[in-house]
Amino acid sequence: MTQTKFLLDEEEIPKAWYNIQADLPTPLDPPIKPNGEPIKPEDLAPIFPMELIKQEVSTERWIPIPEEVRDIYRLWRPTPLYRATRLEKLLKTPAKIYYKWEGVSPPGSHKPNTAVAQAYYNKKEGVERITTETGAGQWGSALAFGTLLFDLKCMIYMVKVSYEQKPYRRILMESWGAKCIPSPSERTKFGKAMLKKDPKCPGSLGIAISEAIEDAATHEDTKYSLGSVLNYVLLHQTVNGLECKKQFELAGDYPDVMFGCVGGGSNFAGACYPFVGDKLKGKKPDLRVVACEPKACPTLTKGPYMYDHGDTAKMTPLLMMYTLGHEFVPPPIHAGGLRYHGDAPSMCKLVKEGVMEAVAYHQNEVFKAALTFAKAEGFIIAPETAHCVKATIDEALRCKKTGEEKVIFFANSGHGHFDLGAYDAYLHGKLIDYEYSPKLVKEALAKVPKVKPKIK
Ligand SMILES: *Cc1c(COP(=O)(O)O)cnc(C)c1O
Repeated sequence: MTQTKFLLDEEEIPKAWYNIQADLPTPLDPPIKPNGEPIKPEDLAPIFPMELIKQEVSTERWIPIPEEVRDIYRLWRPTPLYRATRLEKLLKTPAKIYYKWEGVSPPGSHKPNTAVAQAYYNKKEGVERITTETGAGQWGSALAFGTLLFDLKCMIYMVKVSYEQKPYRRILMESWGAKCIPSPSERTKFGKAMLKKDPKCPGSLGIAISEAIEDAATHEDTKYSLGSVLNYVLLHQTVNGLECKKQFELAGDYPDVMFGCVGGGSNFAGACYPFVGDKLKGKKPDLRVVACEPKACPTLTKGPYMYDHGDTAKMTPLLMMYTLGHEFVPPPIHAGGLRYHGDAPSMCKLVKEGVMEAVAYHQNEVFKAALTFAKAEGFIIAPETAHCVKATIDEALRCKKTGEEKVIFFANSGHGHFDLGAYDAYLHGKLIDYEYSPKLVKEALAKVPKVKPKIK
């Protein structure tokens, strides 16, 4: 019988994270201010702890995972690598399909890999309280969990429509001791101004980010935390890809093609960068690494490569990335975690240089794939993750036609137990496929400042 799960012992949780910046053929373009000047570490110190700012710009290949963080990782790590034999049978494909399952963490996704690390560094530097924003609540619940373990206060600004429509993740946050309030709120100047303009304002991620940053910047004991896009977030997520490499050794295989869903890029980077490092070093030059995104928010497949703000409110520096414009508001697809106008700069650079590729899908085909997966393997996965399951099934069916015995991998980033409403909409034919609007993207791109970095 074919082995189904490849498991590691707790002692095999990696002792260091892998930093892709050490192996990029050319360095990343620096984050800049609107006047073109590169950002200095001091500029970020009011909102981030120093150790994370150092990690953000580090080019060291290995960054040690603190023992306290590894100890907490033991609660759910190492996570299993599965061979999806039942899905292979259902599809009648000669390909081998593997997936790494991050849905076993307490919040149900990959996100605590960085939430726990960020809480640790903040605690170590004497921070008492952390703020963040959350849309549907995936990141907010991960940070609530992380701060709980280090006895920190946690303040979460949740986009008001989600707060009202999706109570379950709020309840999760509150169960772990965090304070979660609808944004815009009366707690910040920015929130008050928004409410004055429109008392019924439904909120947006951009507004919530502005409130969370303002809160952190105006409280001595408080810092701000971000759950994707930044280099150090991707770094923390590599604990997953490093485990995965060991597990592929146990399986006696190595992926030919890797798929992952991409919102800001953190789960996929975490799963694939250790393998991308091999590719960059010439160890597996023909490895295909494919980022999967929604057609409703096609950052990598349709956006231009340019400097843009990381958030709608222009609070963050300008980052070199593929972008649909920081003012672009994606249609309300159910994969809320993939509704982001940009992507992590390192991943954008790898796509730009042809090391990685990107594809985009509509949500109906994506949910169809998720149900095929559920029929074969049982797990109800997150709508985000379903994007790379669609790519996996397509590739497996292509292999069936050609008879290729390819090794296919996908990053299974989380479960969909709080997204059953979306499954319900699909099952009852109520899910809309939103066409990407070149007109709206063009309008949003017109708002992106035209800047070039000033060379020092
Ligand atoms: C948040 C989330 C994503 C998207 O974020 P990335 O930073 O691109 O990984 C994907 N899958 C799940 C389950 C998520 O919770």
